[in-house]
Amino acid sequence: MKQNKLAPAQLWTGTHDNLIAEVIPYLQKRFCPDEGCGVCISCNQIREQQHHAVVWICPEKNYTLDNLKVVHERLSFALNDDQEIFFVLQKADFLSKQCANSLLKSIEEPPKGYHFILCAERTEYILPTIKSRCLLRTFAKDMFSGQLQHLYTTFSTQLQEPLSFLQYLQKNPINELQTLDLIDQLFAFWMNKYKHAVEHNEDKKPIAKRITILKKALLKPPMPGGSKLFWKNLYLQFNACS
Ligand SMILES: [Zn+2]
Repeated sequence: MKQNKLAPAQLWTGTHDNLIAEVIPYLQKRFCPDEGCGVCISCNQIREQQHHAVVWICPEKNYTLDNLKVVHERLSFALNDDQEIFFVLQKADFLSKQCANSLLKSIEEPPKGYHFILCAERTEYILPTIKSRCLLRTFAKDMFSGQLQHLYTTFSTQLQEPLSFLQYLQKNPINELQTLDLIDQLFAFWMNKYKHAVEHNEDKKPIAKRITILKKALLKPPMPGGSKLFWKNLYLQFNACS
């Protein structure tokens, strides 16, 4: 585990999906023995939000003190020198005043080894007392509208369960032009990732497989009305790579 000095609390702003897509590689870099290879057990566990050292919290609507119980519980355990725990508070702009206040002390000076990443779309809803205790990072707004961003995130980070993916497609139809645009962007994303893997001497195979799939997809774009089938097929092929 890396022990570079790190602000105890950070406040990241951007759109929800975008921030998840940023937090995942950030934490992978932190915990992966191989600088965030994206394919090892640690990297996979982080992507699936199953990693033992990362506590993801997302309120259903507004935060309640109950949502934060896990934070206070975990904080009461002292960590060894080589241990780190991250709390990722998604939608931190939905922290009520009471909830925010309950975190103030921990965010300012958490016990050794504990870190907070607060994610929010709108910082104007974050209490100044919280904001002033955090290192601020802003991420560019989405390249796409919400629906396309969701697909982009899915195919660049984590495939959701097949059933929920199908349901998503059903509810959010995508047209042929949007499909092409998105495939272009995904292609660029995976090419970058490939370049990174080459430079860092990491396993390129799983990345290369996805690039091949995307290349073929670009050569055979969906026929009018065929986008849903196209994405279904793409999903199955990506799923087979992971
Ligand atoms: Zn890794």
